Amino acid sequence: MNYKEPLFRPPAEAESLIFQVAYGCPHNCCRFCGMYKYSRYEEREYDEVLGDFKKGARKYLETQRIFLADGDAMILPFEKLKNYLLKLNELFPKLTRVNVYANGSSILAKTREQLCELRRLKLHTLYLGLETGDEELLKLVNKGETAEKMVDAVRISQECGLRCSVMVLLGLGGKNGSEKHALETAAVLNKMQPRLLSALRFVEVPGSKMFTGYETVSEYGAVCELRKMIEHLELAKTVFRANHASNPVPLEGRFPNDKSNLISGLDKLISSGGLNRKGPGQLPFWL
Ligand code: SF4
Repeated sequence: MNYKEPLFRPPAEAESLIFQVAYGCPHNCCRFCGMYKYSRYEEREYDEVLGDFKKGARKYLETQRIFLADGDAMILPFEKLKNYLLKLNELFPKLTRVNVYANGSSILAKTREQLCELRRLKLHTLYLGLETGDEELLKLVNKGETAEKMVDAVRISQECGLRCSVMVLLGLGGKNGSEKHALETAAVLNKMQPRLLSALRFVEVPGSKMFTGYETVSEYGAVCELRKMIEHLELAKTVFRANHASNPVPLEGRFPNDKSNLISGLDKLISSGGLNRKGPGQLPFWL
């Protein structure tokens, strides 16, 4: 397959066959995100993408899982997305699911009937970056979405049978905004009730363009923030993961059953004295 770099996929899509239906991110303005900083958004021609599907089917006919890249495949017009799914169903007889990155407004641009139809055609998981439930902070980081709309997008998608995997960013509010970020994110997640939830950590690096006054949260602060967020989560059926390499400690559990274990594990860590209180601590080499 010919891919145009940069190409990103969620960690859970490591085993999926990937097709790029567009290049880059249509929004590409979030202050904290450098993923597609140097690429211009471009929706690919239908026939060109179809050529990739056919090539993929010749080589990997047994494929069960497909990820459609890049940054917001859900923004494609309904008919185009539907036709892609119809083709994938035709070309890959063992296909079980097609997953995509999505934004709140691109989901809400589809009607309920359209979302249900996409689900029938095996669209399965929508990866959505909530980042924070703090509306003011969403504006400060130029997310281009409101938490209120993202709640609607997740609830409607899940009512239509789609699964939403929601990501939040620890440290996004900086030192001063940490508590508000934790509490308002928990409140919004409680309204969303996502089936999957991931917490990643944001650390400002040279080249990031965060808002004036932003101060990076220490390793200790990020763990306290996560603890506060978890304490206020009331989720009925959510798989939670904070095992991305950017996290100070890998965590995994299911809500509601594992909530108290997650909290007591974090309390032990907070009182261990082993967390860096002055800086972000050890980070993976790419941060
Ligand atoms: S919408 Fe997503 S991919 Fe696009 S700039 Fe924001 S965080 Fe990055």
